[in-house]
Amino acid sequence: MSSQIAIQKVSQPKPKPNQAELGFGHFFTDHMFIMDYTAGQGWHDPRIVPYGPIEVEPSVMVFHYGQATFEGLKAYNTVDGRILLFRPYANAERLNVSNERLCIPPIDPNFTVEAIKSLVEFEKNWIPAGEGNSLYIRPFVIATDPYLGVKPADTYKFFIVLSPVGAYYPEGINPVKIYVESNYVRAVKGGLGFTKTAGNYAASLKAQEEAKEKGFTQVLWLDGIEKKYIEEVGTMNVFFKIDGEVVTPSLEGSILAGITRDSTIKLLKSWNVPVNERRISIEELYVAHDQGKLEEAFGTGTAAVISPIGELNYNGRTISINGGKTGDLSSKIYHTITGIQNGSVADTFNWTVE
Ligand code: PMP
Repeated sequence: MSSQIAIQKVSQPKPKPNQAELGFGHFFTDHMFIMDYTAGQGWHDPRIVPYGPIEVEPSVMVFHYGQATFEGLKAYNTVDGRILLFRPYANAERLNVSNERLCIPPIDPNFTVEAIKSLVEFEKNWIPAGEGNSLYIRPFVIATDPYLGVKPADTYKFFIVLSPVGAYYPEGINPVKIYVESNYVRAVKGGLGFTKTAGNYAASLKAQEEAKEKGFTQVLWLDGIEKKYIEEVGTMNVFFKIDGEVVTPSLEGSILAGITRDSTIKLLKSWNVPVNERRISIEELYVAHDQGKLEEAFGTGTAAVISPIGELNYNGRTISINGGKTGDLSSKIYHTITGIQNGSVADTFNWTVE
């Protein structure tokens, strides 16, 4: 693989969106990164080209059998005028974990980060100003053989596209109402739950739609076999503070190893807050609530960093957590991670890459 990235510039740059209209994932920058894979040749022809439609045959394998993996991370403008990525090597390595499970050839993680850096540097004028705004980075890989047999493809394309996004909490961090899903499941052990592949998100849509109709923001997923143990919340990992100890479901194959999850665990340990990765059942959680021991609950993920859970509904029984308010620990984790990302808090873990 050549590390020489060819560059083809747009002739006419697009107008940039106003900060107020950003939202999430609506706008794309002027350029994108593409690299091809051909069996026997490996990854080749890395290039930055104008962002726009791509032409593929309708028979390409990704449309039929879903051999697709992706990542999500952000570039942040710092208070002192630098541009930071948060733990990009972790994303590059996780992409290969997903690729391995989906029979997609690996991509050198150092090269993935180099490609991200090159594209972000090239598009740096697209990183929106304003507190909490950022440039969302979406690397993804798709199978591109025009072929209808079920087998791993021989050709792939690796893309990186960039999207300027608004602050997740323009009006301050806000607890949400969550529906505990006891009918649909997201993933099972032995399946794809630990990967970022398109199919997982397709599988999650129906439960999310039904929860929204019932007035909830997201679902809490239970394990796919016994529907007993807690797995994730929406597209985030989940944490509970119970009687002074922080508990998060252990990674046993059906849960994505979130980078914010890992950062949260490392921060808690550095603050000497007891943290335990283990199985936790929904029954145990409700008992802890009834005993007055359930102190805080929150999701973790790149988009929101921390999303406090104010209310849970399981089989018709609603419980309120911390009076529906954001807990002190949730708030401290949120401000520490976002502070490291925007350069206002010392990066003692060396998580950021300039
Ligand atoms: N679980 C799922 C299913 C996700 O899609 C995400 C978002 N990538 C997460 C957890 C959180 O992962 P991260 O902290 O790396 O964003």
